[in-house]
Amino acid sequence: MKEKILITGGAGFVGSFLAEELLGRGYSILAIDNLSTGKLDNIAHLRDNPDFEFITGTILNEELMDDSIARCQKVFHLAAAVGVRLIIERPVETIETNILGTEIIYKYVNKHKKKVIITSTSEVYGKNNTIPFKETDDSVYGPTIKSRWSYACSKAIDEFLGLAYFHEKKLPVIIVRLFNTVGPRQTGQYGMVVPTFVQQALLGHHLTVFGDGEQTRCFANVRDVVWAMAELAESEEAVGQVFNIGSTELISINDLAKRVKTLSGSDSAIEHVPYDDAYESGFEDMFRRMPDISKVEKAIGFKPRRNLDKTINEIIEYFKE
Ligand code: UDP
Repeated sequence: MKEKILITGGAGFVGSFLAEELLGRGYSILAIDNLSTGKLDNIAHLRDNPDFEFITGTILNEELMDDSIARCQKVFHLAAAVGVRLIIERPVETIETNILGTEIIYKYVNKHKKKVIITSTSEVYGKNNTIPFKETDDSVYGPTIKSRWSYACSKAIDEFLGLAYFHEKKLPVIIVRLFNTVGPRQTGQYGMVVPTFVQQALLGHHLTVFGDGEQTRCFANVRDVVWAMAELAESEEAVGQVFNIGSTELISINDLAKRVKTLSGSDSAIEHVPYDDAYESGFEDMFRRMPDISKVEKAIGFKPRRNLDKTINEIIEYFKE
């Protein structure tokens, strides 16, 4: 009998790659997704696999979570509101999904005593300007009138609650903070910059760089990220710990735009859009963001294997198809 793993958000961008990774490791998968940002297309290639089961449903449905968690040996909790645009346009949904939804997951993994891997985010560091971020660095948030920070706070609450369950109730919880993660199947609909630039480049539209474009990020390939998640889930030492997962190849958004243009052979212009026009007036961006990945490297030997050029090329191929 294969070990069964529940993936909430299993039809999402990261969830669908995680399902592939875990199927490859010999697990059977129960994926649940409410298809708000997830898509059936993301898992179309898995639907015929007898080890892959999919249910359309929400993590807010307690009966479904109770029953599904009982049927699985481990839970990867990925269902969440993600993407800066979505967070700013639908803040109620963001806060409710990320806080109430995760509370429900903890309630039932605790009831059935199952190991849970919680997907958090580099947003929890907020506008701390340290480089690179270590897991023990401070969270620095802006005021509550700026809705962007609700996402960071909601995910920080998820982390606090998980660590509380671990310390107080001995629940096996592992927290992973994903930094910018990109790859095929990700859409630019909710703000993500790499799929946005690739689509703009292929369509001959202007590449929209927000602000002065000197802000920097590190973009990890989703396949490297899900490998690390799967590996951590199998590690006993990882329990009760928080891990950064990401790439350390730092690039400015200006350089990213140029790189996408070169790799796609596009002659699109690069246009600078003031932040006030990009999202909401007074929008606060993060100036730089880079993970210190020494902890995850020590725990499981993680090293990003796919560089940014390779990843951008994969995304270009995906959109061309
Ligand atoms: N960005 C941009 N143009 C876009 C979308 C995003 O210049 O069309 C910028 C955004 O302001 C940020 C960076 O690209 O500085 C990364 O944005 P993304 O939403 O992908 O991830 P974030 O790091 O903000 O979570």
